[in-house]
Amino acid sequence: MKVAVLGAGVIGVTSAYYLAKAGHEVTVIDRQAGPALETSFANAGEVSFGYCSPWAAPGIPQKALKWLFMEHAPLILRPKVDYAMLSWMARMLLNCTAERYAVNKSRMLRLADYSRLSLAELREETAIPYDERMQGTLQLFRTQAQLDASAKDVKALAADGIPYEVLDREGCMRAEPALRHVADRIVGGLLTPKDETGDCFKFTNALAARAAELGVVFDYGRTIKGIDVEAGKTKAVLTDRGPVQADAVVVALGSYSPLLLKPLGISLPVYPVKGYSLTIPIVDPARSPESTVMDETYKIAITRLGDRIRVGGMAEISGYTNDLGPARRRTLEHSVMDLFPGGDVSRANYWSGLRPMTPDGTPVIGATKIRGLFLNTGHGTLGWTMSTGSARLLTDIVSGRKPQVEAGDLALARYAG
Ligand SMILES: Cc1cc2nc3c(=O)[nH]c(=O)nc-3n(C[C@H](O)[C@H](O)[C@H](O)COP(=O)(O)OP(=O)(O)OC[C@H]3O[C@@H](n4cnc5c(N)ncnc54)[C@H](O)[C@@H]3O)c2cc1C
Repeated sequence: MKVAVLGAGVIGVTSAYYLAKAGHEVTVIDRQAGPALETSFANAGEVSFGYCSPWAAPGIPQKALKWLFMEHAPLILRPKVDYAMLSWMARMLLNCTAERYAVNKSRMLRLADYSRLSLAELREETAIPYDERMQGTLQLFRTQAQLDASAKDVKALAADGIPYEVLDREGCMRAEPALRHVADRIVGGLLTPKDETGDCFKFTNALAARAAELGVVFDYGRTIKGIDVEAGKTKAVLTDRGPVQADAVVVALGSYSPLLLKPLGISLPVYPVKGYSLTIPIVDPARSPESTVMDETYKIAITRLGDRIRVGGMAEISGYTNDLGPARRRTLEHSVMDLFPGGDVSRANYWSGLRPMTPDGTPVIGATKIRGLFLNTGHGTLGWTMSTGSARLLTDIVSGRKPQVEAGDLALARYAG
């Protein structure tokens, strides 16, 4: 079957790879000059299968109010008269109950665990390098209240059989020796030892090269304008350089997916939630992280990527904008220098990206009401982590095969009613 994959971020490229392996004739279309040049470019580098959690959680509305007045706030809200923004926020609030959190977290963990197995297999079959490490994620708590609040995550991890360790201060320093320099700032941590780290940009580019070897055609510098539908079935992808015929179309346009779907009468509750990162060359390895440390106070992830530290985080609700202000940079520098001052921040690269967020945190994978039109999008905070499992599920659905893990509750239909 001829399949057009729209978007060459980590989600589009992993989809193309597995679709080609399943025997499809695949073309990837993207407006950029190469793979992973938008949100998949400089994310925080976590491949955190065990840390996968929806942001919509009990207690978040109260915390959010507090964050709005914090100097180094994890949440920045720029409200405007925008129906998509307001309705997305309202739906997110509805997901902040204990019951919804448990359902959403369990879906994310299922997909993340499938991704863990899939990524391990993929590494074995391709041996692609991407500054990968397999030393876990340490969620770091600076207060007893944070440590106590992690009980709900521990419960979910235990229920889903994901390995974890609750650590005291000494345990945190054993996991991340550079923390010895700042021991007084730490109360404890939650380690998910099966988690990994790596550079999403390098991964996506290396995988795109493997996909090309399998016959995938990458059509860069082409802007997608719409999808031509005839008698309830996809016919072609409309672009600024003419139509591309396809039997099936996979939408993997990240935050831009809802804009393409709206004229087709498909309402996809994905909203861009902006985040920022700094990539810092390491000058003192003894004061640098070994793996990913998630600083719970600022909700900022600090990751070792080869000879660099990547620090990323913050959630800014401000629409489709990638501008880079000095205040967010100060927050990233503050968090990383407070715990791991082993890099030279004067030589750091500063970046922002738009997370394609659903209100329940779980991506949208599956068929739509239009025959031949499939979605693999809305991966939000941990899209790279969930990419390989999502792409395999999508491939099975497009190919008419039964997915290896439950996928029915990941489709767009879950929002009906
Ligand atoms: C600060 C930050 C930190 C993060 N940290 C992590 C992390 O540590 N671990 C993790 O797993 N995830 C992390 N994420 C999330 C992760 O980066 C995203 O979920 C993931 O990159 C989304 O991939 P995507 O392929 O869906 O979107 P994208 O990478 O944005 O790809 C979409 C593609 O569609 C193309 N496109 C869009 N519209 C059009 C059009 N009209 N025509 C043609 N092409 C178009 C774009 O050019 C782009 O290449 C982070 C995100 C941010 C912002």
